[in-house]
Amino acid sequence: AKSRGRAQSVVFEPSMDSAGDDLDFAQALHAALRFESDALWVGYQPIVDLPTRRIVGVEALLRWTHPELGTVSPVRVVSVAERVGLINELGRTVCDIACRDLARLRAELGVDDLYVSINVSPMQILNDDFAALILATIDDAGIPRSAVRIEITEHLLVEDMDRALRSLTTLSEAGIRLSLDDFGTGYASLGYLGKLPVDTLKIDSSFVRDVETDARVFVEAIMALSRALAVDVVAEGIESEAEEAALRQLGCQYGQGYRYGKAVSVDELWDVLIRHYLTAGDAPGG
Ligand code: C2E
Ligand code: MG
Ligand code: MG
Ligand code: MG
Repeated sequence: AKSRGRAQSVVFEPSMDSAGDDLDFAQALHAALRFESDALWVGYQPIVDLPTRRIVGVEALLRWTHPELGTVSPVRVVSVAERVGLINELGRTVCDIACRDLARLRAELGVDDLYVSINVSPMQILNDDFAALILATIDDAGIPRSAVRIEITEHLLVEDMDRALRSLTTLSEAGIRLSLDDFGTGYASLGYLGKLPVDTLKIDSSFVRDVETDARVFVEAIMALSRALAVDVVAEGIESEAEEAALRQLGCQYGQGYRYGKAVSVDELWDVLIRHYLTAGDAPGG
């Protein structure tokens, strides 16, 4: 039961292969972007300081309710956007929403140390305008550059290290912090870590899941590496008390996961933060 555009139904049959589905999907995404549909939004998941449970930042995660398919994974949305040439527009939209939301939260709640961490696709970074666009978006929103982190994955580095390095160095020199997402799951050699201006390693949730058993030794190695490089570590996907305890014991300072909260809308985040600052006795604004 798909409502196809007339022009496309001539070319693609629904049964042809996934190309037709991709095209429908891409058209719906394009429409959502163009009309600033409410179905396209950004969710925010808290990032906490494990010893104190203080919320130090939030990760911006793309959310889209497809008109027919319902909730779809951002992994799929991003991959289609990359294939059909919408990734730069999508990336700009997410960055714009995230920076404006953070500006509002910081102003209304009187906090000056909450950051937002934004995922970017390798394809965006390889675009020559990437760094300038990010900086302009942050400046337009009126937040300091130190309030924004950019999350990149190792896949990028395999593709075009030199070009990526240029964009990322520009951002770093402008005061933006860089996080290496899904650390330990990529294909790049470790040598790139010395070349990149990375500030944070995000331990992939697959290690966190088994940190009490098989993965403990790998988390230990990542912690040793982080100390040698003087970078922060955020563990992703913490769900249980035992995982949290094991990570803390290994010296991991920051964490993220359902244990502390799922990604929520900016309005819900507002409520979460109000309650958080009241109960933490950690008066916003210092
Ligand atoms: P990621 O950046 O590694 O984000 C973490 C993912 O783990 C998120 O899934 C989050 O909802 C999920 N998660 C967090 N805590 C837990 C937990 O305790 N248990 C479990 N099982 N999952 C947890 P989500 O939102 O589905 O995003 C998936 C991936 O899609 C992200 O992985 C990121 O690579 C990509 N993505 C999301 N938003 C964007 C975006 O705006 N731009 C780009 N380029 N990629 C995005
Ligand atoms: Mg991420
Ligand atoms: Mg990750
Ligand atoms: Mg576990």
